[in-house]
Amino acid sequence: MLNTPAPTTLDAFDFYRLDDQLTDKQRALRNRVRDWVQTVVLPNINPYWEKAEFPRELAMRLLELPIMGGPLATHGCAGLDFIEIGLVTYELAKGDGSIGTFFGVHSGLAMGSIGTFGSEEQKDRWLAPMARLEKIGAFGLTEPEVGSNAVGIKTTARKDGDGYILNGAKRWIGNAEIADLLIIWARDEEGKFGGYVIEDPRNTEGVTMTNIGGKVGKRAVWNADIHLENVRVPIANKLPGVTSFKSLALVLGVGRYGVSWEAAGIAAAAFEFALDYAKKREQFGKPIASFQLIQHKLVEMATEVTLMQNLCMQLGRLLSNFQMSEGMVSMAKYNNARKARYVTQLAREIMDGNGILIENHVARLWTDAEVVYTYEGTNEVNLLIVGRELTGIQAIV
Ligand SMILES: Cc1cc2nc3c(=O)[nH]c(=O)nc-3n(C[C@H](O)[C@H](O)[C@H](O)COP(=O)(O)OP(=O)(O)OC[C@H]3O[C@@H](n4cnc5c(N)ncnc54)[C@H](O)[C@@H]3O)c2cc1C
Repeated sequence: MLNTPAPTTLDAFDFYRLDDQLTDKQRALRNRVRDWVQTVVLPNINPYWEKAEFPRELAMRLLELPIMGGPLATHGCAGLDFIEIGLVTYELAKGDGSIGTFFGVHSGLAMGSIGTFGSEEQKDRWLAPMARLEKIGAFGLTEPEVGSNAVGIKTTARKDGDGYILNGAKRWIGNAEIADLLIIWARDEEGKFGGYVIEDPRNTEGVTMTNIGGKVGKRAVWNADIHLENVRVPIANKLPGVTSFKSLALVLGVGRYGVSWEAAGIAAAAFEFALDYAKKREQFGKPIASFQLIQHKLVEMATEVTLMQNLCMQLGRLLSNFQMSEGMVSMAKYNNARKARYVTQLAREIMDGNGILIENHVARLWTDAEVVYTYEGTNEVNLLIVGRELTGIQAIV
């Protein structure tokens, strides 16, 4: 046990003064999210994580922040710029990965898909209640036998009168069991890729959802196995803007951008906790921060966090100017997810026995980093996307 309770408020680490580059509006939003995380999330999240329980009460309080819908600017959505989206994601990740993932799946992937590919009628029907969290969204792409090779999904959508019949299976789908709108990605009889929205999936015939228990990371957000057997979806629920798998690149690219910030946030929080701990924890009559080997770890962490922060800020500028390529965002995801793993491990080492305890937060960040390493493209897949852009040679298949 620590002599003093684990801190919930720490000085935010910003060695290269990136704060100076923010507009007043960006800084004000960042500060609001930061305060919210420190008062709402950090003091309350650990019991949910430990029990693998979704913190619905905390998640609903996201409505206190003007962030829902991210860049979407109609139907009560926040209309954020891309730096703001990054800063919001970073601050949420510093608090807790599960809340961050709930928000990322609902607001980024689900609302983002409807906002990008939906008809005006679909946007009118779904976006406003989603912005008010009256309807929660989920995004079902991955399947039991299809992970990295997402283009090879096997779920089918067969045209039948005034609707489609969906058959197949999905795996790892975040928010699915609490979702009111479940976006299922499937192929039709001609092999064309499409997005189909299942409304009220818990009460839809043919939909079976099973919680994936036993996760060691992101424990407070639920992921489900989904089985779809002759599930009827009306034509009006097909997203008309999806023309091919490539359409998804836009939503996945912004998703990967967010996850790069998320990894940076996880690493920064782990570093801040470890630095605070190292200054307070005494061994051999001195704070452990006075030992060279501990300083080595702190410098490694601080350097990696600074690199991650700078990569994210520049990527945000490129995205804002429509200059972000697939390779650029994959490079950030590749680097930051890998480094978040490294930095959280070092933080755990500095806190050692206490680093194992959930009450000191770092263990949660450390295992959440493992999930970030996997989703939005595994490390290998993102590496190969960068490799393809550098060489012009496709090495993924
Ligand atoms: C907690 C969590 C939440 C998630 N949430 C969602 C969600 O909401 N919606 C959703 O659709 N999906 C979600 N996912 C799924 C996630 O996107 C996949 O897990 C990810 O794409 C990897 O797929 P896989 O786990 O099946 O690994 P696999 O694709 O089976 O990969 C296994 C290993 O093989 C490597 N590999 C695969 N192909 C190649 C290749 N060509 N060259 C070299 N190496 C390769 C991979 O990098 C990895 O190391 C989530 C996953 C987790 C763990």
